Amino acid sequence: MIDGAAKSRKAQVHRMRRIFLFTLLSTFAISAQNKEKPTVQATPAPYEWPAEKDKKYQISSTFGESRIDHFHNGIDLPGEGSKVLAPKDGRVLYRINSEFTPGEMPYGGGNTLILDHGDGSNATWSGYMHLKTFADAVIKNAPIAKGEKLGTSGNTGHSGGPHLHFFIYHPGERAMLNPLLFLNDLYYRDTKPPEAKEWGVLLADKFANVNPDKPFRLSADYPVYIFLQDHGVGKERWGVFEYKVRLDEKEVISTKFDRIFFKEGAWSLATGHKFEDIFYRNLYALTPQVRRAKKVSVEAKDLKGNAFSKTFELKIQQN
Ligand SMILES: [Zn+2]
Repeated sequence: MIDGAAKSRKAQVHRMRRIFLFTLLSTFAISAQNKEKPTVQATPAPYEWPAEKDKKYQISSTFGESRIDHFHNGIDLPGEGSKVLAPKDGRVLYRINSEFTPGEMPYGGGNTLILDHGDGSNATWSGYMHLKTFADAVIKNAPIAKGEKLGTSGNTGHSGGPHLHFFIYHPGERAMLNPLLFLNDLYYRDTKPPEAKEWGVLLADKFANVNPDKPFRLSADYPVYIFLQDHGVGKERWGVFEYKVRLDEKEVISTKFDRIFFKEGAWSLATGHKFEDIFYRNLYALTPQVRRAKKVSVEAKDLKGNAFSKTFELKIQQN
């Protein structure tokens, strides 16, 4: 889980890609850049599944998962050459052909398409990355009808295997929305609850695994983490949807991965948590105050409500 050079290079690529997306979305969002806004409950009309429907779709990554140094901001649907279909009426806002970007430009999305679905202040955009091909009709400003073919899924850009990265963005809110909240979920199943695997402590000079069921030593308030993973019906490795931590009955974290806001130069969950507040690499935070606690209760749910819940009785040596 703790990784070497390959991963740090990957992390760098992720960072570049994130910066690119920041820039891209910020540029487009200028018109929507209104005052300090209260939280808005954006409820875009439902989307159809953004890929051909004669297939059973496995989802390889869910929204809000760790991407080592940032939240995953969409869902991944594996497949090479699968038809990508417009989930809603709209028009082409943006299209980039990665073949026209020289060399290793930080355009990690590869062939990328963004549609604007209109609807005034509640407009949403949908995004498609790593495409293999674009349909001929997909040119800037072209109107697109629901169900129209947009292209095919592929492996362009910085991608670890053929898949469609699909996201939904709310420009008025400057928020990435969890697509699974707006998609008809007939195309995926999730009957297994999240499970907890290991714990780790971020010490001053290294990361160490600990067994929470046995005594362990914490000489300072080092942050403690738990590795949680959700599974659909099989071996999927997904992030969780809701996450709560209580220390000795006091709630210290309660959040969910329904949307990620871009605010004051950083992405955060609706609860205000930034990536670093929730994750160390792909482990979920239990907070540094664990050291003085006798009990830690962890609750994690997936989007279908399957729940993991456990209270750990701690035996921490403090010196
Ligand atoms: Zn993705």
